Amino acid sequence: WKHAPATFRAMLETTAFHGDKTFVVYEDERLTYAEFFRAAATLAHELRDSGIAKGDRVAIAMRNYPEWIVAFAATLAIGAIAVPLNAWWTAAELEFALGDSGARLAITDGERAERLAGVPLIVTRRGSFEGGRDWADVLADEKTTLPPVELSPDDPATIFYTSGTTGRPKGALGSHRNLGQAPMTVAYAMMRGVAMAGKDPAESAGQRRNTLLTVPLFHATGCFAVLMTTMFTGAGLVLMYKWDPGRALELIERERATVLSGVPTNAWQLLSHPALDKHDISSLTAISYGGAPAPPKLLERVTALLPDRTPSNGYGMTETTALAIYNSGREYAAHPDSIGRPLAVMDVKICDPSGRELPRGEVGELCMRGPVVIMGYWNRPDATAEAIVDGWLHTGDLARIDEEGFVYIVDRAKDMVIRGGENVYCAEVEAALFEHPAIDDAAVIGIPDDELGEQVGAVVRITSPVTAGDLRAFLRTRLAEFKIPVRFWFHEEELPRNPGGKILKTVLRRQVLGD
Ligand code: ATP
Ligand code: MG
Repeated sequence: WKHAPATFRAMLETTAFHGDKTFVVYEDERLTYAEFFRAAATLAHELRDSGIAKGDRVAIAMRNYPEWIVAFAATLAIGAIAVPLNAWWTAAELEFALGDSGARLAITDGERAERLAGVPLIVTRRGSFEGGRDWADVLADEKTTLPPVELSPDDPATIFYTSGTTGRPKGALGSHRNLGQAPMTVAYAMMRGVAMAGKDPAESAGQRRNTLLTVPLFHATGCFAVLMTTMFTGAGLVLMYKWDPGRALELIERERATVLSGVPTNAWQLLSHPALDKHDISSLTAISYGGAPAPPKLLERVTALLPDRTPSNGYGMTETTALAIYNSGREYAAHPDSIGRPLAVMDVKICDPSGRELPRGEVGELCMRGPVVIMGYWNRPDATAEAIVDGWLHTGDLARIDEEGFVYIVDRAKDMVIRGGENVYCAEVEAALFEHPAIDDAAVIGIPDDELGEQVGAVVRITSPVTAGDLRAFLRTRLAEFKIPVRFWFHEEELPRNPGGKILKTVLRRQVLGD
């Protein structure tokens, strides 16, 4: 490896060869690969000259702007550790992450600069914010090569905070090796996608791969699965300031996007949008989503509205540098409720709570091993020891694997409701609710109960009038009685989700049950 180091930096140097091809589009701005490489090289020199050394943490706090990508690349190129911060975080949450990571510098947009305290700032799109060094000044003295630095594949490269779906976000420490392997998992996924579709969808349409990214770069999917793969194959990436299905339709049409990549909610909202018919989105060849449960109803909708496209559902975690298990095309059509089969680099097993491997077909905790599993959690030896045992990552997801090797996510271990000793998997009840035509969104939660410990409750968003009695009658044809919610809450507003599209059940529980 000394001769062909699997570091991000080594891969970054190849991007310069893509030259004048467009890399990133944001609104009316276009960045070519050559411009990107020069900006990253210039910033890398600046960071080094301002005293950022190998192993130092550099926070990135901004929306999906092209500068995010430049900041990320420059930080890694000098061996510093990039710490992408969630753009939705409040001042207190940002303060926690800055302190936790010990960031020495933050590269930020004006909107977030207001909320960042205690670190030097480099500021882009500053708006009315006045402090910090200006992005344009920092990039004024253009460089065309990266500053020298010794790097090895096992040097740490990134701290990505987990989504915080089940508690306080944890900083997942990823190495250069992890990052270098992430596009490999995607390559395996693409190869399988081609096999499943019987053709390369983008190629047969004579188009260059151009992805509309609908999720934040500060989460693993956006950065590792989409950005890295785009960057290292010389493809195109279209960014959005924030998710907006109407705008997404316009951008797909304008930029002739071939891939829609995001969470299931993005695909769902795009395909339910009233203006869908008014846009030419024929360029799309692949609809890929993942990162959160995808109801089979979504696949039906994709297949009905966009036939001949390749839909795919990818499963992954921050802790696996994004994609690990993948379902697409014919296999997905035949197993619409599965997350697919593990990608070639991943080992998978199902364990009981003591860590013993369970036989095929039984439900237990999904465990994974492979070159994309992170080094551990930053500053959290306790959490690391719990999650990674002998190289096996314990995902916290309950799953089963069938005879053919298809993996089915049953629920998050923390989400399961235990009703009088009987396990009720919220995800299963939610999937059944989604089959009802009036249901637009659904979340199942446990309600404390003196007698049974917990009872099943459901919060639903409906599109046409329906009663709790109707829903119960509907569910009875699909689920055992003990799984049927005893209480329904009808919500008019959207259910609370994190930017990754996952329902925040702790928030929801507080909303409907109080403290
Ligand atoms: P935290 O760990 O902070 O509670 P999180 O687990 O939501 O948050 P991520 O790493 O962003 O943080 O998400 C990984 C989780 O997302 C997986 O463990 C799994 O529960 C869920 N997930 C990812 N992809 C899929 C998918 N295709 N289908 C179902 N669930 C998925
Ligand atoms: Mg998690």
